Amino acid sequence: MAKFRCRCGEVIAMSGEIPNPLEWHITSDQELEEFWEEQDFEGLQQAARPAFLCPTCERIWIYWDGYEGKRVSYALESDDD
Ligand SMILES: [Zn+2]
Repeated sequence: MAKFRCRCGEVIAMSGEIPNPLEWHITSDQELEEFWEEQDFEGLQQAARPAFLCPTCERIWIYWDGYEGKRVSYALESDDD
């Protein structure tokens, strides 16, 4: 099973349960509009970047270049300022 470890220690499964409760898909407004107009939902799913939300620390890991590319993390910021 494909998985990786979040910086907080949580193990995030990339495969297994379908649909994956931790997986999201990032698409631009432009892409959404284009694919929607064509009713091409499969194309939209393929164009969208996979993202995984860590259930423990709420970091978001995004594969901007698809599953084979590198993943980038975005951590939750504190509102205490
Ligand atoms: Zn985490």
